Amino acid sequence: MLLADTRSYGDKITIANFDDRGIFKNFCSSCFQQKLNPEEVFVDFGSTWDGGTQRSDEGILISIDDLVLCQACLEFAARLIGLEDSNKLNKEIADLKRENKKLLAKVSMAERDLKT
Ligand SMILES: [Zn+2]
Repeated sequence: MLLADTRSYGDKITIANFDDRGIFKNFCSSCFQQKLNPEEVFVDFGSTWDGGTQRSDEGILISIDDLVLCQACLEFAARLIGLEDSNKLNKEIADLKRENKKLLAKVSMAERDLKT
């Protein structure tokens, strides 16, 4: 397997939520959705392709000429290769520990009730 030179990717792959005028104009090259949630990140891979056109909610015809992927597609693809968002996993672990603590307290109370 060839090792990739990650420096070249850093120059090419960028966050692409807004154009130079601050206008959100991206459609995902995979799911073709234009998600208007400002929290959603789009990534421009710096590669061109002919993805056709999509009409925005404002009726503007937008060409999909760049490989830009939305956060949801990136996260799904990452999971396919074993990468997970550690923030989400850490939150899930904390939630499960909190729930486990509650359940252990209930079990302890139930055991105590059985003895009396
Ligand atoms: Zn997508």
